[in-house]
Amino acid sequence: MADNRFILRINKKLVDRFGIPKRSNKLPDPLEMIIATILSQNTNDKNSYKAFLEIRSCYKNWDEVINKGQKVLAQKIKTAGLSKQKSDAIINLLVRLKNEYGFFSLNHIKEKNNIAAINELTSFKGVGVKTASCVLLFSFERDICPVDTHVFRTVNRIGVVKEKTPDKTFFALNVKFPPGIAHQFHTNLIRLGREICKPANPACFHCPLKRICRYPQKKMSAAKEYKSNDFFLLDNIS
Ligand code: SF4
Repeated sequence: MADNRFILRINKKLVDRFGIPKRSNKLPDPLEMIIATILSQNTNDKNSYKAFLEIRSCYKNWDEVINKGQKVLAQKIKTAGLSKQKSDAIINLLVRLKNEYGFFSLNHIKEKNNIAAINELTSFKGVGVKTASCVLLFSFERDICPVDTHVFRTVNRIGVVKEKTPDKTFFALNVKFPPGIAHQFHTNLIRLGREICKPANPACFHCPLKRICRYPQKKMSAAKEYKSNDFFLLDNIS
């Protein structure tokens, strides 16, 4: 279980460096959020945002997405990569919602606790713990921090948790996450991972966490340049 006082110290240093990340003015629809997160798997936010906008502009409604079929959808979202798997997952999601509930909505998830919500969302094909937890954070403002590849690498290097996989990291990190900071902590860690704490060569010299990070292989001597990379797909879905 993660130490919340350590999380709060890390969060303060990240906010001091990167600020409080902007969010869209209204909470994104959970169905749009899950589709955007499916599109974001294994690609960058700019490409997945293009694919998301393509869906919005090419279809009148979700029925039309189903009726035109998986191959047409795969073509529309090809900029996001893995278009066969992603279009399969999106069509499967829409068909199941229509068959089981009679409408295209995930609003009923709001009534469920975090574990029940994650269990239901991950029962959809192509939806893993990260995608489910993004819906809970971004659309329902839950106090949970999704764990993508950047959050997995950074929280394990910093020493918040010591886990071998993103899903194990998610459950260790979120036993009782401190209230009110999940969005800023999650988003700023992604930014830290993209810009400074990169997989091969972390630029520890520039890192706001260098005095408290417990990573034994910190690279303090390499004063590397780093570039800002602060476009976040999930904060542009509204
Ligand atoms: S000090 Fe280095 S290893 Fe630790 S979080 Fe910063 S960049 Fe990553």
